[in-house]
Amino acid sequence: MVARANFQEIHEGRGTDKWWVWLDISHKSKKYILERLPKMHSMILKYNNVDISKDPVEISPTTHYTMWGIWFDPKTYETTLKNFFVAGECTMWVHGANRLWGNSLMETMVFWKNVAQRILDTFENIAPDNSDEVVHISPVCEGTLDANGTLTEIRKEVWEYAWIVRTEEELLKLTQILSEYRIKIQKEWIKCSWDEYTNTMMHNRIHTVLDFAELICKWALERKESRGAHYRLDYPEMDERFARNYLHQVCDGKIVSTWKDVPAPSSELQYGLDTFEEPNNYGHQE
Ligand SMILES: Cc1cc2nc3c(=O)[nH]c(=O)nc-3n(C[C@H](O)[C@H](O)[C@H](O)COP(=O)(O)OP(=O)(O)OC[C@H]3O[C@@H](n4cnc5c(N)ncnc54)[C@H](O)[C@@H]3O)c2cc1C
Repeated sequence: MVARANFQEIHEGRGTDKWWVWLDISHKSKKYILERLPKMHSMILKYNNVDISKDPVEISPTTHYTMWGIWFDPKTYETTLKNFFVAGECTMWVHGANRLWGNSLMETMVFWKNVAQRILDTFENIAPDNSDEVVHISPVCEGTLDANGTLTEIRKEVWEYAWIVRTEEELLKLTQILSEYRIKIQKEWIKCSWDEYTNTMMHNRIHTVLDFAELICKWALERKESRGAHYRLDYPEMDERFARNYLHQVCDGKIVSTWKDVPAPSSELQYGLDTFEEPNNYGHQE
């Protein structure tokens, strides 16, 4: 909500020259700020040379967390790829449409521990591979495209058309832009004096970013509602028909989409939800 309010200010012409906004908390006493936001205060003083108890600080919305990711079996941590286990921010399951408070780092600690154990159990009897085999990565062809510049351009387009506030028109426009990039990359691959490895890595990176951006467009277009951090200006209400998980899988080079109902909460979680009391004082958990 705060990020959307920032977006509105910027888009209605009240942002700064950089397309940011001013955040001002100087109406609160210094004592309050030092008690409630000690790290914010010291960090902004150190890096921006601004004392937030006296002056406003220039800020911009940014991506804080990805609330979607790789499907895995929550009992075994297995994905659809054999012996490929996941945990942490790259996964789906834990947070739904909105991650609240500081529970991401807690998640990584809990789930990584379980995954580590699962890996130990799975590979207990497999001897480590000590061979000195060198993996040879075949070079990609040379061309005229500036890979780093292209990555920056793609990021800017996604930021422009699929960020905090989305519309069908803008998402379709981005879909078109991304497919044009695919063609461009295929035609004019990289001008660079990099070694083979870096060249191939950049190639993969650009394609991963494109895949990722296309998936964002695809599911954001399908989800004709607003839920959690996904906000559609043309569908601003939550719609219970979309209370489900979308799954996208690449089959024969094409994205195939399905969806699954969200599983009912366990009895422990339901108990937590039923007895949960809204805190009367939301503060940043530093
Ligand atoms: C600005 C900001 C503030 C945040 N504040 C909080 C907070 O206050 N509390 C909280 O709980 N959470 C917070 N989060 C979220 C939290 O930091 C992340 O969700 C968490 O660190 C994710 O951990 P991870 O291990 O899943 O992924 P990451 O920390 O992203 O680790 C992934 C690692 O994989 C490496 N990697 C990537 N590709 C490859 C590859 N091909 N080969 C080998 N290695 C690779 C990366 O270099 C990286 O080291 C914040 C996030 C941001 C951006």
